[in-house]
Amino acid sequence: MDSNTVMYGVIGDPIGHSKSPLMQNRAFRETGVNGTYAAFRVKPERLGEAVAGMRALGFRGLNVTIPHKVDVMAYLDAIDEGAMAIGAVNTIVNENGRLVGYNTDGIGYVRSLKEEAEPELAGKKIVVLGAGGAARGILWALNRERPASLLVANRTWDKAKALADHLGEGSGSIAKAIRWEELREACLEADVVVNTTSVGMAPNVSETPVDPAWLKPGAVASDLIYNPLTTAFLQQAQERGCRIHGGLGMFVYQGAYAFEYWTGQPAPAAAMREEVLASFTGK
Ligand code: NAP
Repeated sequence: MDSNTVMYGVIGDPIGHSKSPLMQNRAFRETGVNGTYAAFRVKPERLGEAVAGMRALGFRGLNVTIPHKVDVMAYLDAIDEGAMAIGAVNTIVNENGRLVGYNTDGIGYVRSLKEEAEPELAGKKIVVLGAGGAARGILWALNRERPASLLVANRTWDKAKALADHLGEGSGSIAKAIRWEELREACLEADVVVNTTSVGMAPNVSETPVDPAWLKPGAVASDLIYNPLTTAFLQQAQERGCRIHGGLGMFVYQGAYAFEYWTGQPAPAAAMREEVLASFTGK
């Protein structure tokens, strides 16, 4: 660091578990960008002060994580169209004092899915399990790929219905809510089944959101969870002949997009992945 080092960071509460500083600092080293990235624990009642601090200190960029992704929007000067449709911001770019909010979660997920599992999503039948915060960006970004169908099911029906309706009205999404009882039939026909629920996350690693035997061989089973790296859902789907896609890529590519928005340079995604993976495996 010197007096020209450009500052970046992530704000959230809690934040001590975040892998973003390791990943983004590796990206700066790898590309020779004179930047540095730190994690800041910001209480909800001090969110406005934190954003004012970003302006005052001339930070070029911030990532925003739980619980601030929605509330931070009120403190920004402009919101990208996608982030507006999703209703949440995870990346802020400081354009000479003008703070612009983006959401790279959904596009990060889709980039990872296309690079690692299924390059062509157009015309595919996609089922999304869960309608929480992560599902919002994923449904929005999947819809842009022109799938044949995009079905969303959630344990709490009202949330699936409200999300599909919101995206339909706001961005003309084809996403349609189905009942949990209709899932078996939908999964049997699906080309891609995505778990966005927290079912199967450590420590409950033996749980699966649906019976993996419902998926047809050759279909893609995708899981947002990356702890464990391979969930029971993915493991059992693979044993049935499905292609599998874990959640680590989404994390890497949401950060890769943020890096690209901030620096205007291609992100060193392979090195970023290596850094995060090493922090999990200790290698
Ligand atoms: P969230 O907003 O709390 O939503 C949780 C979702 O899981 C809801 O749809 C909830 O259904 C469902 N759910 C929870 N327990 C369930 C159960 N026992 N049976 C059926 N459904 C259940 O959480 P989120 O922020 O969307 O995160 C969801 C998952 O995605 C987490 O595992 C998180 O680690 C992962 N994630 C990964 C990345 C990445 O970069 N790879 C990024 C973000 C999130 P109800 O509405 O009925 O409660």
